Amino acid sequence: MGRRLAVKRPARSPSSRKPHGTVRRRRPTSRRKGVKKTGAPADRPRFQVRRFLSLLGLAMMLYASGSLLWLLLIRPDIVPPYFSGLFRAVVVDAGHGGKDRGAAGNGLIEKELTLDVAERVGRQLREHGLQVVMTRETDDYLSLAERVRVGADQRVPAIFLSIHFNYAKNRSAQGVETFYYNVNEEVPAEILGDALLQAPPMSDSEVFAQEMQRELVDALGVPDRGVKNRGFFVLRHSRIPAVLVEGGFVTNAREAARLNDPEYRQRIADAIEDGVQAYRNVMRQRMNDLRRKEPS
Ligand SMILES: [Zn+2]
Repeated sequence: MGRRLAVKRPARSPSSRKPHGTVRRRRPTSRRKGVKKTGAPADRPRFQVRRFLSLLGLAMMLYASGSLLWLLLIRPDIVPPYFSGLFRAVVVDAGHGGKDRGAAGNGLIEKELTLDVAERVGRQLREHGLQVVMTRETDDYLSLAERVRVGADQRVPAIFLSIHFNYAKNRSAQGVETFYYNVNEEVPAEILGDALLQAPPMSDSEVFAQEMQRELVDALGVPDRGVKNRGFFVLRHSRIPAVLVEGGFVTNAREAARLNDPEYRQRIADAIEDGVQAYRNVMRQRMNDLRRKEPS
């Protein structure tokens, strides 16, 4: 070996014949990296910095996910809908009750109708796998704030559904209507300015109201009084998607006769359940679309 090397060396340039330690300038950088003896001591601190950074990153991730979980546990109402997932609970609010009788006409009392239909809706939704929370199950008086609080207290994604029956001095008024509340639609055009050029996104409550109204009109074949933005207390203060259904007029003789029939009330309950499920399908579709858009 020694002899062969000795023969080869003269063929190289004169500088390469010098001992390795003295030809630093000529040594290509790529070769320098390959030399383990010089590389190892230099890499060790760099490796430690990298390990420290990855541990720091892991700790920060754990901290962030921990606080998000904590937030979900203590304040599910302030977590954006995107994080809260598809709703699993429905707060069913039977309007009026106790000393508050609500509307009355043609022998019907609103607080009794609302409780009857609310119980039917609750039963239906439970049978189809949703959690149901009733604001009242007896002829009790509840303030509007107490009803809203039931919605805010939910620890799983939930929606709020208030059931009412209508009253009008004009006895010919009939049909169903569904209310939601969207504060943004009340902002004057001068304040919004250019923002008006873009169509404002529909609020979840409005989507909910539209699905609900369509199912009610289709199932009951009654006049469609439409979907309306109205600042009713239980809608205005709700922190979860909320609608208020007016299922018919006790003051209209024809409609009152139908409302007096338990079979018709069951049809209303079925339609309301369909409205909840239709809204749930829209939300599920929306979440699937969001997931698909995310790069993975
Ligand atoms: Zn009412």
